[in-house]
Amino acid sequence: MSSPSEFIVVEVDMAACAGLARCGGCVRVCPVSIFQKSGDKPAVVEKNLDECILCERCLQSCGPEAITIRKLYEA
Ligand code: SF4
Ligand code: SF4
Repeated sequence: MSSPSEFIVVEVDMAACAGLARCGGCVRVCPVSIFQKSGDKPAVVEKNLDECILCERCLQSCGPEAITIRKLYEA
C-alpha cells in the first residue's frame, strides 16, 4: 500500500493524547491544517501531509508527546 505522502507520516498516539477539550494544541498551532477535530481527539488530515513544513510546533505543543513525525526520505 502506498503512503498518502512520499515525504512524511504523522501519527497520533490516541491513548496518550490528552484530548481536544484539555489540550487541542496540535489543531491550533499547525499552520497547514494537518490536524482536524474528530470527536474529542485530533485526526491527521492525510491529504495535507505534503504541506508539512516540519516546523515542529505540533510536537512542542504536545505535553504528552503523543505525536510522531516520521520522515520517509531519511533512512
Ligand atoms: S511540523 Fe508543523 S507543519 Fe508539520 S504537522 Fe507539525 S505543526 Fe504542522
Ligand atoms: S497536542 Fe498532543 S495532547 Fe494535545 S490534542 Fe494534539 S495530540 Fe493530543
